[in-house]
Amino acid sequence: MDRLTPQQRSSRMAGVRQKHTAPELRLRSLLHAAGYRFRLHRGDLPGTPDIVLPSRRTAIFVNGCFWHGHDCRAGRAPTSNQAYWSEKISGNQVRDRLKASALENLGWRVLTVWECEIKKASALPDHVAECLTPLPWHSQSGQS
Ligand SMILES: [Zn+2]
Repeated sequence: MDRLTPQQRSSRMAGVRQKHTAPELRLRSLLHAAGYRFRLHRGDLPGTPDIVLPSRRTAIFVNGCFWHGHDCRAGRAPTSNQAYWSEKISGNQVRDRLKASALENLGWRVLTVWECEIKKASALPDHVAECLTPLPWHSQSGQS
């Protein structure tokens, strides 16, 4: 018996994006430790971002290196069945770009955090920390 709602079914068929992966949990705990408030898997936003910081209008996707074709060791396509994998992965990359631009059109800032940069991280990745800080009252101080 098929008890999935149409929405659940289509998200299963979309396939590779799983919720609550280990890299995602790691990022969440680092954000939490840094005092940021966030929400998870906002289905009302394009692409259902993994993590959303509403007060900063920032959406974060935590991407697996292999499935999303990161330019790193873990992101390399296998040498067998190359055509198959590269088609799958480039399809995901196209979807990633569409999701990001749909969000940006709605005024959201979109960050991508890669599995390899968060997996063993003990602090927020620099590009995330830089995006979330400085707070408004620090923003004009500059570095001289
Ligand atoms: Zn990577």
